Amino acid sequence: MDFPLPDNEAERLAELHALDILRSASAEALDGVCVLARQMFDVPYACIGLVNEDRHIFKANSGWGDTDGTSRAHSFGTWTILSSETLFIPDTRTDPRFASNIYVTGPPHIRFYLGSPLALRPGVNIGSLCIFGCEPRELRPGDLALLSHLTRIIIDQFRLHQANQRAKRELEHRRASQCLLETQSRELWRRQTLLAQTERMARVGGWEYDVASARLSWSDGVFRIYGLTPGLEPTTALAQSYFPSEARQHFQKRFEAALRTAEPFELELPFINAQGHHRLIRKTCELETDGARVLRAFGILQDITEQKEAEQRMWHMANHDALTDLPNRGLMREKLDLAVRRARRASHNVGVLLVDLDHFKDVNDTLGHDAGDALLVEAARRLSGCVDDADTVARLGGDEFIVLLSRLTSPAEGMAVAQQLLAVLAQPFSYRRSTLSCQGSIGVTVAPIHGSDPLTLLKNADIALYRAKSAGRGVAVEYDPRMQQATESRIQLAARIRLALRHGELVPYYQPKVSLTNGEIVGFEALMRWHHPRRGVLGPQDFGEVFDDPQLSIEIGEQLLGQATRDMARWAAMNCPFGHVAINVSSAEFSRGHLAERVLAALAAARLAPELMVVEVTESVFLGRSMETVRQSLQALSHAGVKISLDDFGTGYASLTHLKQFPVDRIKIDRSFVQDLEHDADDAAIVRAVIHLGRSLGIETVAEGVETRAQAAYLRANGCDFAQGFLYARALPASRVPALMEGWCAADAVHGSDGPLVVAV
Ligand code: C2E
Ligand code: CA
Ligand code: CA
Repeated sequence: MDFPLPDNEAERLAELHALDILRSASAEALDGVCVLARQMFDVPYACIGLVNEDRHIFKANSGWGDTDGTSRAHSFGTWTILSSETLFIPDTRTDPRFASNIYVTGPPHIRFYLGSPLALRPGVNIGSLCIFGCEPRELRPGDLALLSHLTRIIIDQFRLHQANQRAKRELEHRRASQCLLETQSRELWRRQTLLAQTERMARVGGWEYDVASARLSWSDGVFRIYGLTPGLEPTTALAQSYFPSEARQHFQKRFEAALRTAEPFELELPFINAQGHHRLIRKTCELETDGARVLRAFGILQDITEQKEAEQRMWHMANHDALTDLPNRGLMREKLDLAVRRARRASHNVGVLLVDLDHFKDVNDTLGHDAGDALLVEAARRLSGCVDDADTVARLGGDEFIVLLSRLTSPAEGMAVAQQLLAVLAQPFSYRRSTLSCQGSIGVTVAPIHGSDPLTLLKNADIALYRAKSAGRGVAVEYDPRMQQATESRIQLAARIRLALRHGELVPYYQPKVSLTNGEIVGFEALMRWHHPRRGVLGPQDFGEVFDDPQLSIEIGEQLLGQATRDMARWAAMNCPFGHVAINVSSAEFSRGHLAERVLAALAAARLAPELMVVEVTESVFLGRSMETVRQSLQALSHAGVKISLDDFGTGYASLTHLKQFPVDRIKIDRSFVQDLEHDADDAAIVRAVIHLGRSLGIETVAEGVETRAQAAYLRANGCDFAQGFLYARALPASRVPALMEGWCAADAVHGSDGPLVVAV
């Protein structure tokens, strides 16, 4: 339904909404005005309405009952707000605007109307005060004055409401800002405390220097770092006096430069606080300029002592070996890099000494890890004691150490130091009532002669070390380029031997063992020969290194066992009384396990009694990780009837314990003692001692490498049981064994003239 709108409807509505009165609770005062108006005008209805977009909402009324207003189309107020004048209708039925109004035609049948527009500002009518009567009526004198009075009261009420609203808003605003302020100040306080706390915890403080006034100021943190009570006026002289003079000059120089150039800087400086404690300080300096000159310098002072110490500790842990506290491989590489680069510039020599302890694994395996650790620590201590501060001793891991001699006066000095190290290491060392040895072997390389980069130097030192070890250990060997070839040829040899194995080029030869009492052959030792297609028959001096190769030695051992048992079976079939055959077994063959089973199975396959077989081992197989396996294997063999012979006795440990721990039936006196028997009283004494040792333990003795009758005579005279050597025969092919046996003259072997009895190959 249509209704007229005032010209300023939008403005009017804005004012109304701004007043925020529509939804607010009805005011008692306005109800009172309505009651008063009814009485004063003597009418049944009076109301105060506000006109919004579509309704005339009664803010207060008297006579209308519970209603909250009427629609704008039917409202008299709609017309009242169109002008600033009072709207007076004496009889609605004669007014075309109202004659058909539902409240005129229907109940309450309004006839008389007096309405006054309500405005807080002139012309902006937000509502109306309406007075209705049901009888047509004219205005009485004073009615308009009364109406304007009531209108003013209402407007006052509105104004009051407006003021209240404003006050309320203000209050809310103030409360909000108060709240904000409080939060802000709390935050500020929190930050300050935090800052102070951080200052304390991080041991930092702020400083500031005003260039114009030359005034310095400090935060409490700085005072704390200095160990001074906050409050006193700091001066640059005071600030500087706690730094050692060198640090002071250093800072001063940078500071003056910064004031000139406006370049910020940061320094770490040693510092001695008021209590005399040595600390490390980080000082930063920022500059503020006006575009041309520096106005202000400021920055942070931080005590970084603990931080640095922690960093240092972390670094140390990452770069050192936990057991010996020596630099580790990583740090060693860095130092070697540096040393080599420096040496290149200064053209001097750098020595790389690669040290490997000789029997570390044995100590570790037999005496336990504690003993092993003690040995490593002692070796580290001794090595470190032999070199200068400028040199580095590092542990590469396991029992390998490296000594970097950063500045050699001559290339020969490297070997000289190595000899010195060997001597120091060789000193016996006691650990819990046992005497240990940290004897080592050393490979020496010198830069730039043997290599100009760390990698080559280390690789060549390794080659030299390998040489030192294979040269019998306990020695130092300097790298020689020819060793490189040797290493390569070792690799080639292994490949070549594998091929030889497949082609059946490796065959056992047999060297007889003769009784010193009656000259009879009591058995043979199987010794490996290589029928080289071009070079002829080769002995272990040409390929023996392969016995040290764990994989190859197993393959060779396997083949030898098969061939030897086949040869024995053939001899037995020919009724050749060969006695026994001794085979040499390397430690890898034991480590592989089931040695006894394999030997016994091979014998069984060839239908040979175990008593026909002797197993020769050197003392070195008793040492190491597989000691228990070795003991069990030997025991099983011994139990089955296989005899055990201890090879090369006297060159290694010559340990009585070994003789008791392992089932040893025979001791073989090493050739080196037999050789010089006639000329070397010491060797002769050793030989006698070994023979007596065997006697007293009920163990037979075999002398190896007997070449002369005089040697044989001496051995016989001293009670040695058997002899083996060129005097009787060299190792010969299996096919010649029966003939040898047949033609053997025992009497000749005992009494014959000097010179070999039989010479084979
Ligand atoms: P070994 O077990 O001590 O063998 C004795 C070595 O002394 C043999 O050298 C033998 O030919 C040599 N010999 C014997 N009588 C005399 C003599 O009167 N004068 C001199 N100068 N030497 C004599 P060979 O055959 O060169 O063997 C060297 C080493 O190679 C052996 O020492 C043994 O350790 C190893 N070997 C040989 N064959 C095998 C094998 O089949 N398996 C294993 N694991 N090792 C073997
Ligand atoms: Ca042997
Ligand atoms: Ca031997």
